[in-house]
Amino acid sequence: MPDVRALQFNIQSYGARLIAVSKTHGVEQIRGVYKEGIRDFGENKVQEMMEKQPLLPNDIQWHLIGHLQTNKVKYIVPFVYMIHTVDSPKLLAEIEKQAAKNQRSIRILFQFHIAREESKYGIKPEELDWLYILDFSRAYPHLLPCGVMGMATFTEDESVIRSEFQALKNLFHRLKRDVFSDHHSFTEISMGMSSDYPIALEEGATLVRIGSLIFGSRPSVGQ
Ligand SMILES: *Cc1c(COP(=O)(O)O)cnc(C)c1O
Repeated sequence: MPDVRALQFNIQSYGARLIAVSKTHGVEQIRGVYKEGIRDFGENKVQEMMEKQPLLPNDIQWHLIGHLQTNKVKYIVPFVYMIHTVDSPKLLAEIEKQAAKNQRSIRILFQFHIAREESKYGIKPEELDWLYILDFSRAYPHLLPCGVMGMATFTEDESVIRSEFQALKNLFHRLKRDVFSDHHSFTEISMGMSSDYPIALEEGATLVRIGSLIFGSRPSVGQ
């Protein structure tokens, strides 16, 4: 395993936090990283997160970083720490409903589609009007709006990646100013993965989601 503590230290020097993305890796490997002091872990599949969570220490903060279907919200709301992938009013409503049922407050990030690749997921920057009409505190009393999340294009071209991260940062500031100015929780920009996290840190990431650099490469099946 690479030096997770050194990685964590580097990330913290930018005022950001490391999320270890443990998808496809087993609980023993997660335990190894936990022993290095990491408490934030990210999974992209509901089923996988549900299977691992009861087998691991209680003080782990679980981040859902993959697409979330409304019918699966109920399975993670009892324990999840933060949901990074909110991209529709329908999903917001379901998370609120389940959070109320569980008497929990759930941290959420709005996922934006900033990359050049086609994707069904994430709010398109030109389609964020619905966020402006939310009466957030009144409609979603059990949700804590914490910020934004995005993924850059998979490319060697650093300037493309950098400009996409800048676009996400601009969206964050815009929403903070126009929609969430009363929400002190709105502080997070989740961006950067193994291949591009140094650029993300330079561009103001507060949460970086790193998998393969910590755990090694994933089996290519089922990704
Ligand atoms: C898998 C994944 C990551 C981590 O990717 P690595 O390249 O392994 O660091 C980050 N964010 C999301 C949304 C992911 O699905």
